[in-house]
Amino acid sequence: MTEASNIDPELLTIIVCPQCHGQLQAIPETGPVETLACSDESCGLHYPVRDGIPILLVDEAGHGS
Ligand SMILES: [Zn+2]
Repeated sequence: MTEASNIDPELLTIIVCPQCHGQLQAIPETGPVETLACSDESCGLHYPVRDGIPILLVDEAGHGS
């Protein structure tokens, strides 16, 4: 298996933003996921992904660029 850094698509459908409970979007859309971005515009937090594991902590989140 060479997809160790990919997130399980089923997991992506389950997890939500811990701050606003909005949907999370994988970035980039193809290939290993590097970031999960909240789709709620008023929230807009970006959560890091480390070794394929989303770090869904508001303290660890940023606002992208
Ligand atoms: Zn959010």
